[in-house]
Amino acid sequence: MSTTLDSHETTSPVEEEQRAFDAEAASLLVKKLREAFASGKTRGYGWRVSQLKALAKLVDDQEQQIVDALGNDIAKPPLETVAYEIAMLKNSCRVALKELKHWMTPEKVKTSIATFPSSAEIVSEPLGVVLIISAWNYPFLLSLDPVIGAIAAGNTVVLKPSEIAPATSSLMAKLLGDYMDNSCIRVVEGAVDETSALLQQKWDKIFYTGNGRVARVVMAAAAKHLTPVVLELGGKSPAVVDSNINLKVATRRIIAGKWCCNNGQACISPDYIITTKDHAPKLVDALKTELETFYGKNPLESKDLSRIVNSNHFARLTKLLDDDKVSGKIVYGGEKDESKLKISPTVLLDVPRDSLIMSEEIFGPLLPILTVDKLEESFDVINSGPKPLAAYIFTNNKKLKEQFVGTISAGGLVINDTTLHLAVHTLPFGGVGESGVGSYHGKFSFDAFSHKKAVLYRSFLGDAPVRYPPYTTTKLRLLKALIGGGILGIIRAVFGWS
Ligand code: NAD
Repeated sequence: MSTTLDSHETTSPVEEEQRAFDAEAASLLVKKLREAFASGKTRGYGWRVSQLKALAKLVDDQEQQIVDALGNDIAKPPLETVAYEIAMLKNSCRVALKELKHWMTPEKVKTSIATFPSSAEIVSEPLGVVLIISAWNYPFLLSLDPVIGAIAAGNTVVLKPSEIAPATSSLMAKLLGDYMDNSCIRVVEGAVDETSALLQQKWDKIFYTGNGRVARVVMAAAAKHLTPVVLELGGKSPAVVDSNINLKVATRRIIAGKWCCNNGQACISPDYIITTKDHAPKLVDALKTELETFYGKNPLESKDLSRIVNSNHFARLTKLLDDDKVSGKIVYGGEKDESKLKISPTVLLDVPRDSLIMSEEIFGPLLPILTVDKLEESFDVINSGPKPLAAYIFTNNKKLKEQFVGTISAGGLVINDTTLHLAVHTLPFGGVGESGVGSYHGKFSFDAFSHKKAVLYRSFLGDAPVRYPPYTTTKLRLLKALIGGGILGIIRAVFGWS
């Protein structure tokens, strides 16, 4: 596997390419980055801005290469690459560049009577050397969006892209090598062995995007060094659909979040729908109509649908469809072409809750619909499972909206649309429970890679004897009055009045 490691200055680039990236190489890399961090280079506003600008320029200059790499890796339609990877990255750079000065400015905070006279502030300081491990489905965005936060916060960074998207991984290694300050920002390509070598090292933060199984490996490795983690995971994100709504708009928005996002291979795509038994046939009809409008009569031929990323994931999705418990439940789609790794948009109605498709995150173009007698029952269905990364509801009913927001615990909620909360940089993006730990985007990215240092300033004035021995009854009374907070109590204590 190739790395951009330059820690053996005496070896030629070719020798370097051929070296296995093992724990020793990982340790050398971390040492170099720790030295760079200790030099103070990354702390200054100027360095952070220069690197954010370099990243924005990289994305601008290399748009076509990025589109092509994602085309190779997953047949991602160019429009989706431009909208969800390129535009979102550019926006993250723009927000960070615009707000950085403000984010870096210490935040003045109030102090208490106990420290009078004093002033206090919260200083955001970089953590040090951070590791970012990313996933294959939005490989550009999921790699570089956290890198933006890490740079903005003033850290040195190692990025480990996903080997499942090899064209994008090698493009990022090349481009970050060309555009960024390589004494502080590095890419290590590779799979389990290389990631394991990295995970053996001591980091100041590990930011992982991917599945819950590997997240446990990451967290166990981090625990050995007491390293904090952000875990951006997935889950079964539900969409609840009421009856008295604009069904055409709702259906189009469900399709946009499901099949227009990497053919369902997105962490916040609707995983399943819940609607009432009475409304289900209308919803199925609307889905059929809109899907045919978008993808034609033969969706396997559509250029507007990503393919399944590889044969393992194709086999996994096929197994979900072949489960006896869902035989006869397909009401739309179900076509597959293994040679092209394509699966058409597929809708299943009334699948049993103990079927395979309802027991794991689907992460593909299959959409089961569960039915209930009353829509309120859907809240118990959702809350009976692990907390999802996102949850959606389509309704005009104010009470139902309030109940949804009040009772559903998920990483994020959207009312009357899907996935769009991701694009709002003032909202934190992250999971809860099984769907993740921590969050990022906008200022939350800066915060994720910063330590909030508490700083209290005092002068030599106001040196209250109450805190020093000998501890007398008067001092105890004064202390109690100070804790009580009442000014009269304090005056009484000072003058010894009971
Ligand atoms: P993946 O296969 O690309 O794996 C993610 C990373 O883990 C890769 O860099 C990979 O090299 C590394 N890895 C794999 N096995 C490892 C091991 N044994 N030890 C150490 N590292 C290892 O991606 P994936 O996990 O298939 O991604 C899909 C999952 O990620 C879904 O659950 C999805 O919901 C979730 N996801 C979440 C977000 C989010 O922002 N919350 C975004 C995308 C995907």
